[in-house]
Amino acid sequence: MADRTRIIEGTWNCTSCDTRDILARHRSCPNCNNPREETGKESEFDFGEVDAATGKSRREGVTDEKALSAANAGADWFCDYCSASNRGDTPICRNCRAERSSTSRALSEGHEEPIEPSAPPPSRAVAAPGSGRKWLYVGLGVLALFGTCMVWGSRSHGVTGQVTRTEWTRTIFRETFQRVSREGWRSDLSVRSPRMPVNGTGEVAGVENIRSCFPRQRGTRQVADGTERVCTTKTRREQCGTTEKCTRQKMANGYMKETCRDEPKYCSKSYQDCDTRTRYRSEPVFDVSCTYDTYVWNQVDSKVESDHDCAPRWPQLTPGSLDRLRREEKYAVRIGYDDDGAKEHLHEPKNEAEFLAWKKGQSVPLQVNNFGSTTIMAGDAVR
Ligand SMILES: [Zn+2]
Ligand SMILES: [Zn+2]
Repeated sequence: MADRTRIIEGTWNCTSCDTRDILARHRSCPNCNNPREETGKESEFDFGEVDAATGKSRREGVTDEKALSAANAGADWFCDYCSASNRGDTPICRNCRAERSSTSRALSEGHEEPIEPSAPPPSRAVAAPGSGRKWLYVGLGVLALFGTCMVWGSRSHGVTGQVTRTEWTRTIFRETFQRVSREGWRSDLSVRSPRMPVNGTGEVAGVENIRSCFPRQRGTRQVADGTERVCTTKTRREQCGTTEKCTRQKMANGYMKETCRDEPKYCSKSYQDCDTRTRYRSEPVFDVSCTYDTYVWNQVDSKVESDHDCAPRWPQLTPGSLDRLRREEKYAVRIGYDDDGAKEHLHEPKNEAEFLAWKKGQSVPLQVNNFGSTTIMAGDAVR
């Protein structure tokens, strides 16, 4: 894309007679004939307004031959003797005929005006940049609060408790190996003789007497059934025309060079993303189901015993020849302590040996944290 350049003419204000907006092509005030100097901001030119979106000057470009020639004459210089401004390409002061010397000051201006930010490159990002950051802050906040809470909660202090009661509950279950009818898929069944347990072990369930077989639905399967066209609406960034961007450069002589070019402009456009997919339907799958005989352990009896502040005992149940016994035990140690009132810590030993280590009346060091939960301090003091 080709650059387009224009020369923009500035204006200045006469400090002798206060005439304003004198075109740069006039080196002396048209009203009082005062030559333009460096002092009094006479050589600080005004170039008028600039369009914010494009950076383009609202002034007309210069077409006048003489003005264009002045614009291309280089930076002005100021006469050492009379201070008048002169064209950069003339060696003699137009006002007093003095020669330009090596000490003559040249007009200097800020060179490049700030360049407008160019159009953003095509991007696939959809989310607004602000929203992600917002959630990040919310997340950090929650985390900080949680962290503070944990630190506060984990603060603890020690107290001394005392075992007030030790409790045990023991249950014994009697199970018998019994013949039952079951249903199963014929393809999964193979005939096998059962074997009865001896002292509650070594049994085989077996599969016997397969009968009453009939077809039943066992499940479903997905079967290809033609194709279907699936479309989703998506968005993408696409170039949609161009936008003009201009930069400006002061020429240190009352003129400004403006360079404009067309840059691609990007818009969000929606489009259909379509795909041909295989369509599936569900189809029932049949198999043959049969009734058969087998053996299972069935609970036929149970006995519970519980007591406190003593050694645990098992309840008595006598197993038959096809029986087995299953045992369950549960222990609790209640530890009373004072922490802003009478409280209790419940400890549950996992086995008899652990339970027997606890005695009513023994002292127990405890740690109590700010959430009110307690832990037993391990060590010699426990025993
Ligand atoms: Zn004047
Ligand atoms: Zn002079």
